[in-house]
Amino acid sequence: MVGAHLACLAALETGVSAIALKVAGIAYLLRAFGVTAGYHRLLAHAAFKAGRPTQFVLSLLGALATQGGPLWWVSHHRNHHRYTDSRQDLHSPRQRGFWYSHIGWMWDQASFETAATNVKELYRLPEIKALQRYYPLLILAQALGFYGLGALLAYHFPDSGTSGAQMLVWGFIISTVCLWHATFMVNSVCHVWGKRSYTTDDASTNNPLVAFLTLGEGWHNNHHKFAYSARHGLEWWQIDLTYLGLRCLETVGLVADLRLPRKVAAT
Ligand SMILES: [Zn+2]
Ligand SMILES: [Zn+2]
Repeated sequence: MVGAHLACLAALETGVSAIALKVAGIAYLLRAFGVTAGYHRLLAHAAFKAGRPTQFVLSLLGALATQGGPLWWVSHHRNHHRYTDSRQDLHSPRQRGFWYSHIGWMWDQASFETAATNVKELYRLPEIKALQRYYPLLILAQALGFYGLGALLAYHFPDSGTSGAQMLVWGFIISTVCLWHATFMVNSVCHVWGKRSYTTDDASTNNPLVAFLTLGEGWHNNHHKFAYSARHGLEWWQIDLTYLGLRCLETVGLVADLRLPRKVAAT
């Protein structure tokens, strides 16, 4: 993680191009959707139903976000809901400060463990287990893929101004680091700053900036109140791009049974 942050500086050497920025933006959006729709709302909370192939593709996108394999991610997230803002919550800013909740907790010995009992039903899915098992290879393949894409573009379209190294730095490393901090802000910022629309047994807040950066995950107080809901932005003005994406997938029959809080389902 430290290496990835330092590697962002390589952009000073590789420079930037329009195509590298576009690829970085697409990589950010697709993988953010993988984390929010795949890892979070589907695997961790079963907020909607999806067939095994769709579930696999969403989880694969989540894994490519380089935030850990699905079993590890979901296990820790379920612990967060179980122990929110108590001593057992590994990433609560209320317990150990803002920066610890944002990023420091990942150096805690406890963060390296995956509580199998937390994700029992996922262990029954060989394709999800494979994503966890081969996660490091997947990340390596992804890095090589970005490098290869840049090298191919440089060879066939020299005017594009890109290169293998530039695409690796922007498409993979910088977009990954940006997405990391956006996701980490749900743990840190959304338990410190923002509005509390609902009374919950924790310090969760709704934060529009984090919601924007994370495709809707920043409506975090809503989420702690209705953890089963496929929709986190519950007011008309609380834009939740993940939910909009799921509605599109529902229209084409790839997902179904999007769960909603009763008060929203009735409107
Ligand atoms: Zn939370
Ligand atoms: Zn959650």
